Amino acid sequence: MRVAGQERQAGGTPRAALVDLLAGNRRFVSGQPMHGHDVTAAAAASGDQQPYAVVLGCIDSRVPLEAIFDQTFGAICVIRTGGHVLDRAVCGSIEYVVGQLGVPLVMVLGHERCGAVGATVDALRTGERPGGSLAHLVDEIAPAVTEVGLDDPAVHPLAIRRHVRRTVHTLRADDLLAEPVAAGRVAVVGGLYDLSTGEVALLDVPDAGPAQA
Ligand SMILES: [Zn+2]
Repeated sequence: MRVAGQERQAGGTPRAALVDLLAGNRRFVSGQPMHGHDVTAAAAASGDQQPYAVVLGCIDSRVPLEAIFDQTFGAICVIRTGGHVLDRAVCGSIEYVVGQLGVPLVMVLGHERCGAVGATVDALRTGERPGGSLAHLVDEIAPAVTEVGLDDPAVHPLAIRRHVRRTVHTLRADDLLAEPVAAGRVAVVGGLYDLSTGEVALLDVPDAGPAQA
């Protein structure tokens, strides 16, 4: 039996990686996951790693990335920050995975009812910028909220989508990602997770890039 993510070689195509990732989400949604997260799976993947995708998602406890894509150990790299906000550590981590591990697919995954985006909407409405490093999250999400407009009654769900797209476009222009993206060796795509159904919908894929599976 072919095990998703375990036979894929580094340097595979973005399209094949996206097909695998979305197939995992369909297994999860259908209630027929293929992968258990037990110690035998950990041991089986304990040699060299050859992940085929990196997913950048939110810290939200309702969105466990390996589970919603039904991925076993060694299959995907996962990065999580509040509202999937970028900083140098996040970008450097993605550059490492793409450049050193040969991963062809980067997915930015937002989710419905994201608290980080909601907090940004509130901060902009009240004019009360939070203190500490929380301000960094608000500052990074604020342009998406502003582009949608605070007066829009659907500002929260629309800003969630806009923020995914902005993050995707920022990564496509990243110093070390722009060239492999332009050459088609790497794709950066956006997705949105539905908390109720468990489904991942694609939000932003390159024009000539991977088709939805
Ligand atoms: Zn969130």
